[in-house]
Amino acid sequence: MKKQIIHVVIGGGAAGIFAAIRCKTLNPLAQVILLEKTNQLLAKVRISGGGRCNVTHACFDPVKLTQNYPRGSKELIGPFHHFQPKDTVSWFEERGVPLKTESDGRMFPTTDLSETVIHCLLQAASLAGVEIRKQQRVESIEKKEDRFLIQLENQQISADSVLLATGSSSWGHSIAKQLGHAIAEPVPSLFTFNIPTSPLLDLSGISVPKVIVTLKDVGFKQEGPLLLTHWGFSGPAILKLSAWAARKLYDLDYKATLLINWIASPNQEILYQSLLQRKQENPLQAIPPILPNNLLVRLCTSLHIDPTTPLAKLPNKALAQLAAKLYSDAYAIEGKTTYKQEFVTAGGVDLKSIDFRTMESKITPGFFFAGEILNIDGITGGFNFQNAWTTGWLAGTTMAKR
Ligand SMILES: Cc1cc2nc3c(=O)[nH]c(=O)nc-3n(C[C@H](O)[C@H](O)[C@H](O)COP(=O)(O)OP(=O)(O)OC[C@H]3O[C@@H](n4cnc5c(N)ncnc54)[C@H](O)[C@@H]3O)c2cc1C
Repeated sequence: MKKQIIHVVIGGGAAGIFAAIRCKTLNPLAQVILLEKTNQLLAKVRISGGGRCNVTHACFDPVKLTQNYPRGSKELIGPFHHFQPKDTVSWFEERGVPLKTESDGRMFPTTDLSETVIHCLLQAASLAGVEIRKQQRVESIEKKEDRFLIQLENQQISADSVLLATGSSSWGHSIAKQLGHAIAEPVPSLFTFNIPTSPLLDLSGISVPKVIVTLKDVGFKQEGPLLLTHWGFSGPAILKLSAWAARKLYDLDYKATLLINWIASPNQEILYQSLLQRKQENPLQAIPPILPNNLLVRLCTSLHIDPTTPLAKLPNKALAQLAAKLYSDAYAIEGKTTYKQEFVTAGGVDLKSIDFRTMESKITPGFFFAGEILNIDGITGGFNFQNAWTTGWLAGTTMAKR
């Protein structure tokens, strides 16, 4: 009698569950066992997107999509040609979960409930015949000839192939290391900036639709909406900046100078000239409402400018100072605050040791990786789940063919 093939997936998060479903669906004769150390599957899916689960992002061009990954963009080009957001949308829709797109491109289930996504994934796993074992903490993995011995508390499983999808857990990193993979040091990504000395803290809640934020002397720049908070600054522009500069800011102990170009002007001189032109054309009018009023008043007051003064009465020197402030306003970052809606770890298994056509390790054949355990992370907006779906799908596909 032919021996049954056993594939083991470790980790019951988005990547592990998606891979297990794909593997068992493609190869129903194989035994697919998913081991999860806790009592809860898909815990991060449940809390993600404020309980709504931002499943993916409406960006359907694989190359453009990769531009949203500070780490992993080059490696994901190939995988996204196999499984991208369009495929994610179809996958969920075929299983009765249509997704909708919000104005910023984020995609959510139409129910606005992460529970819908969880129910769909667990039902698909059950229908496919994935054997899910909860409260099964894997303690060690040993490679013996062409098999893997997986040690649980009271049991050992001998597997033909293993997928490690344990997210940002240090245990997963140490297992990968034992098997010969380098680990990029994990550091947080997607956080907001603490600016305790900011004179704008009491303006918390005001948002500006488009600013350019730059880390002075460090070389990172991002554009987008900015939110004033009671501890500093947040909003898409800041979160993107935190992701791209995650490692640098970690090295700087989260101390740096943030420059805000409040109206995303391409050039300080152009901004100054436009204020002068306005003064010439409308001498009796005050400074135009280029920013939310309370914020504009505060910025003007800091320069001893009364924003209600007719432009004709403001000396050109004052307008030059205002242009300088609007173009490059400096704030001292003195720490970070985790963004509760979505945070992620930058760092993990070194990408050079993975074959991105298959998600198989180049160092340990038969051993696979998917999801956040890899040194891949996206900016906020559904890109991190897309990485989990894509790499999980590819790993599951290859395991099934073994
Ligand atoms: C609050 C929050 C909100 C988020 N919101 C979004 C969002 O809206 N959109 C988005 O794209 N991304 C979001 N993210 C990021 C996204 O959740 C992760 O990138 C994604 O869940 C990673 O999936 P994963 O399967 O790789 O890892 P995980 O989801 O972390 O799953 C790993 C699993 O492995 C298990 N495990 C660990 N060690 C062992 C062991 N020894 N034995 C057995 N099992 C083990 C863990 O218990 C866990 O269940 C959010 C993250 C957070 C924290």
